[in-house]
Amino acid sequence: MSDQAYQRVDLHTHSTASDGKLTPTELVNLAHQENVEMLALTDHDTIAGLVEARQVADSVGMKLINGCELSVSWKKIPLHMVALGFNEQCERIAAWTLRNQKVRLERGRQIADLLRKKGLPDLFDKAIEEAGESQLGRPHFAKVMVREGLVKDMNKAFDHYLGNKKLGQIRDVWPQLEDIIPDLAETGCELVLAHPKRYPLTVTKLKAVMKDFKAFGGTSIEIASGNERPDYVRFLERLSREFEFKASVGSDFHGPFGPWTQVGRYTQVHEQEVNPLWYQW
Ligand code: AMP
Ligand code: MN
Ligand code: MN
Ligand code: MN
Repeated sequence: MSDQAYQRVDLHTHSTASDGKLTPTELVNLAHQENVEMLALTDHDTIAGLVEARQVADSVGMKLINGCELSVSWKKIPLHMVALGFNEQCERIAAWTLRNQKVRLERGRQIADLLRKKGLPDLFDKAIEEAGESQLGRPHFAKVMVREGLVKDMNKAFDHYLGNKKLGQIRDVWPQLEDIIPDLAETGCELVLAHPKRYPLTVTKLKAVMKDFKAFGGTSIEIASGNERPDYVRFLERLSREFEFKASVGSDFHGPFGPWTQVGRYTQVHEQEVNPLWYQW
């Protein structure tokens, strides 16, 4: 266990509007119980949970930041970008999330076809059903695969079928950084490179991503996301200074059970060494 501690600020969480397990109401109540004072709901490619989250946050007196985790792509590599602090009515956020929602459906079809080629039954309809009102994602396919007895658990589903390497040519479906960042940057919202540790990139490539991210108008990097090792958090703190990024933090909470970090929990950061994004709020 790395040195996680409960924190006041959590700027990366998911609800049932995407692939999280808790409804926005349950999430906000849990975060409040855990003494989180400032929370961002950042569902994948949707802001559908924000209105409900805002109602509950207001009623319990917790600060809620509007957020969204957008799927983007850099030189054919899929990355995640967390947008924070936009207005609920922001038309540009609405347009990019809508675009990505369409991509999610088309990509779901492609994923189902790919799985069929590997000898599995057509899982598209079941995955759609599993997703229900939520944004369709690979976790929904994984869930169906476990339920149908095709794999032992979600991890195996990702390892053998759904991981980025396994998806081959259908990876490059998301908006390019150079298109989406400048467009959203003009609205004045904060644009955060999410969980830099989780990409299959060498340090050299990661720095190249950061250079572009900054040049296009990105404002921040996530220096702590979930239970990264402290030395990696120190490394990201240094990179945030080197590239003059603000520093963001979050649990990437998806639910109380499973491999996910709990809401409000992530590796301790050295606030005084960075420029904390959340100080403005
Ligand atoms: P997608 O949004 O369709 O690209 O799917 C990516 C999501 O899958 C991530 O946001 C995680 O929530 C989830 N995920 C990735 N790897 C795993 C894994 N090994 N087990 C369970 N869920 C995973
Ligand atoms: Mn997810
Ligand atoms: Mn992510
Ligand atoms: Mn996330």
